[in-house]
Amino acid sequence: MSRRLAQGFAPAAWGTPVVVALGANLGDRAATLRAAIDELRALPLTGDVQVAEPIASVAVKLDGPDAAAPQYLNTVAILRTRLAPTVLLDALHEIENRHGRVRVERWGDRTLDLDIIAYGEVTSADPDLTLPHPHAAARAFVLDPWLALDPDAVLPGSGRVDVLRAALRGEG
Ligand code: AMP
Repeated sequence: MSRRLAQGFAPAAWGTPVVVALGANLGDRAATLRAAIDELRALPLTGDVQVAEPIASVAVKLDGPDAAAPQYLNTVAILRTRLAPTVLLDALHEIENRHGRVRVERWGDRTLDLDIIAYGEVTSADPDLTLPHPHAAARAFVLDPWLALDPDAVLPGSGRVDVLRAALRGEG
């Protein structure tokens, strides 16, 4: 296309914007997160991967925060993909498995945990893939890195992420 014809036209956004949360609390956590991010960048039909600075947080077990468990390193990636939600989840499980994640207990310590926080505006109540992620709004270790990447982020169905974060601090 000539430059004149292209003038005034931004390239159409492709794929669906997706928010992925990454966490690790065993082994070399920073190295595991870096490797997982490289693998996210290498996924087919996926691009524009932006990643926040990792943050440390106390492990949350089924019955609440567990200061005795190894701390987590958490981050969030925003990306665009043409992979269907279930295909993306399978790909995330493959990445987890490559990093030796062992599911000893639900909510247990793990070398790598990957969750889909939001897949565009898609909503799903399927227990195998609940969208948006049902615990996202209550997790500072998801909201903080997400806000660092996108101060205007919105969690579909729940609203602005900065408002959700303030509510967690009791400011809501
Ligand atoms: P967990 O061991 O707590 O990471 O839970 C993993 C299980 O949660 C997997 O069997 C997934 O199929 C399921 N799951 C449901 N919704 C999601 C989601 N939004 N992102 C990642 N896993 C999910």
